[in-house]
Amino acid sequence: MRVRSAVKRLCDACRVVKRRGRLFIVCKTNPKHKQRQGYHTLAGEVPVPLEPSVLPAQIPFR
Ligand SMILES: [Zn+2]
Repeated sequence: MRVRSAVKRLCDACRVVKRRGRLFIVCKTNPKHKQRQGYHTLAGEVPVPLEPSVLPAQIPFR
């Protein structure tokens, strides 16, 4: 899985998926096309809300 600041589709089989506010590229035909937008360090991780009750039903489907 590549981690880039900017991802894009590399072929027609590539799919753009948005998960947890982050952009992913998944590819059926070529696994090397798999990418993730963001930084490689943990500092770029999306913070998990401690109390899910604060954000009711705002979790995007995966
Ligand atoms: Zn592809």
